[in-house]
Amino acid sequence: MIAQQSDIEGLKEAGRRFGSILDAVAAAVRPGVTTGELDALSEKLIRDGGDIPSFKGYRPEGAPRAYPATCCISVNDEVVHGIPGSRVLKEGDLVTLDLGLTHDGYVMDSAVTVPVGKVSKEAEALMRATQASLESAILAARPGARIGDISHATELAFKGTGFSVVKLLGGHGVGGAVHEEPFIANAGHPGTGPEIVPGMVLALEPIANAGKASVFIAPDGFTYRTKDGSISAHFEHTILVLDNETIVLTRRPSEG
Ligand code: MG
Ligand code: MG
Repeated sequence: MIAQQSDIEGLKEAGRRFGSILDAVAAAVRPGVTTGELDALSEKLIRDGGDIPSFKGYRPEGAPRAYPATCCISVNDEVVHGIPGSRVLKEGDLVTLDLGLTHDGYVMDSAVTVPVGKVSKEAEALMRATQASLESAILAARPGARIGDISHATELAFKGTGFSVVKLLGGHGVGGAVHEEPFIANAGHPGTGPEIVPGMVLALEPIANAGKASVFIAPDGFTYRTKDGSISAHFEHTILVLDNETIVLTRRPSEG
């Protein structure tokens, strides 16, 4: 959406609610918990606040059915859109929580990858690199720049890391609906694509694999997995671009 002055407080409030909830769900990640339990917690926290889980019942274009859960939970070689259920998390797993919340009509979308107990050095480095890419993408999102500048910054952050950004997936407009224009590829050329204008609400979301970039959709119709079985990480924030500043709406209290 292109936010008006009158939308700003509502967007900020939606983001504040979101940040606390995603922190609480991330804090519940530990060996022995099931992905279904994490999903139930996220739905409870959202509904207790009087808000709506944006993803539950949402049917993306081309999907065989509506998404059945509140939180997309993707483990290890699962890249995005994993469906929570009876899977028990174990020490060393890498878990991505991707949540959508609608407050007063304002849609927030943000994801974090968290370790289950102690994880490998490779997993730690992949998380760090992907989070750094998100921060680079946020810095590139300013009025007068182009969407391609965000894509380029996202991709460039992985240079020399040995990790592969998943170019097939990317960010998008958000704020008024789960998925809005423009699509923001996770790789691209500076100075290309639509101009970034004040009021834009965007979800930026670098996704990277420890191995090769290739992914495929599992038989459930939703879960993307890495073709080579390598682990994957995903960090996402919803931002609001203003004339003089870019506000990270979904910043979590744990991020400081
Ligand atoms: Mg998301
Ligand atoms: Mg998104």
